[in-house]
Amino acid sequence: EETAARRDRYYSASQRKFVPFRDPMVFRRGEMQYLWDEKGRRYTDLLGMNVCISVGHSHPDVVKAAMDQAQELTHCTTMFYHPVPAHFAEELTATMPKGPNGDIEWVVHFTNSGSEAIDLAMAMARGYTGNLDLLALRTAYHGPTSAAQSVTGIAGWRHPGMPGNVAFVAEPNQYRGIFGRNAGAAPYLDEIERVIQTSTTGRVAGILVESVQGYGGIIEMPPGYMSGAAERIRAAGGLYIADEVQSGFGRTGEHMWGFESDGVIPDIVVMAKGISNGFPLGAVVARREIAEPMAEKFMFHTYGSNPTSCAAGRAVLQVLKRDRLQENAKQVGGALLKRLQELAQKYPAIGDVRGRGLMLAIEMVSDRGRMTPDADTTGVVFEACREAGLILSKSGPHRSCLRMVPPLCLSLADVDQVAEGLDRAFDKARK
Ligand code: PMP
Repeated sequence: EETAARRDRYYSASQRKFVPFRDPMVFRRGEMQYLWDEKGRRYTDLLGMNVCISVGHSHPDVVKAAMDQAQELTHCTTMFYHPVPAHFAEELTATMPKGPNGDIEWVVHFTNSGSEAIDLAMAMARGYTGNLDLLALRTAYHGPTSAAQSVTGIAGWRHPGMPGNVAFVAEPNQYRGIFGRNAGAAPYLDEIERVIQTSTTGRVAGILVESVQGYGGIIEMPPGYMSGAAERIRAAGGLYIADEVQSGFGRTGEHMWGFESDGVIPDIVVMAKGISNGFPLGAVVARREIAEPMAEKFMFHTYGSNPTSCAAGRAVLQVLKRDRLQENAKQVGGALLKRLQELAQKYPAIGDVRGRGLMLAIEMVSDRGRMTPDADTTGVVFEACREAGLILSKSGPHRSCLRMVPPLCLSLADVDQVAEGLDRAFDKARK
């Protein structure tokens, strides 16, 4: 109560009001996929503290790497050389596809956050191509900075007066997209061409695509969409920008990066969140020739390449590989998806269940035939989940999706407990 009173008094409304739960929650401790509140009650974190916790809360290897670095030198601004970010840049580029001839050279620009990396990617694409117009998907979310908001299509997520030169294309939602259920990629690719012709100068700087949309309610890009979008955008002079802030670092189970599922090689890749398991860091990884012209103008991120965050990031890459967390995401995510599908058989309020790896969602509807989004029931289930010890998030443009993006160390034993908790929560919502 004391914390809530202090927060209410001293936070601005924009932060104060961002509390999805009925009662305030204070978490005091985390260990791997679990959180403990101030009363010592344990929760399973299916939100991954907003998708930041890739390898586990307070993972000992990540904590040690960051503590050792912080003790030696907490911050070293970009204008000085430091071995840790230099190593980390090398390691990040090594995760990128090399192309059919093995000759693609990648380079890294570290930022403090995902939205700063989005800003930078947008500036890079405009600078390199000389074109201003960008395409973005309607239900995409790319962050809170002005440039990132300018590529935000949902009005409720965007403040007035944001910069322009952005045209929106329909998201290829296979459940409730504008071309109907399971329409595949083709009509949405035609839509990209139409929008380029009708809503831009015909020459574009690029398109931003989340390989699996996060806040949009776990919208997977259907097969052929990412590669088809890249083809069409390149034909109009633009670049393909992959936003891997949520879908990267093995979360989708099949690959390190979400775009790999479609064989597309982006021109620019944006990453953050899971990159450093909760330490503030973002990065743009781009093809060398695309990043090079940025040097003509001043572009400096004070904390970008901070060695403490980068030390955490290096540890994340090691743990991901050593503990085979991508494979774990595939196996455990597959088992969880199956349990969610079983729940959908039992509860008509579940309109759709979707996702891959540990990036899953349940969409709630009041009428299955009409697919009427049901934010109210979503809210009831969400609260009941909390009572059952599960932390999820409400997402999607209608806030009718329960999103699950836990730390990648979630176990098969957790899946049983999560499915039982969800079952109890849905049962409660029915009554
Ligand atoms: N892109 C995506 C897909 C995101 O989900 C987010 C944040 N939720 C961002 C970009 C922006 O990242 P940040 O909040 O670190 O600025």
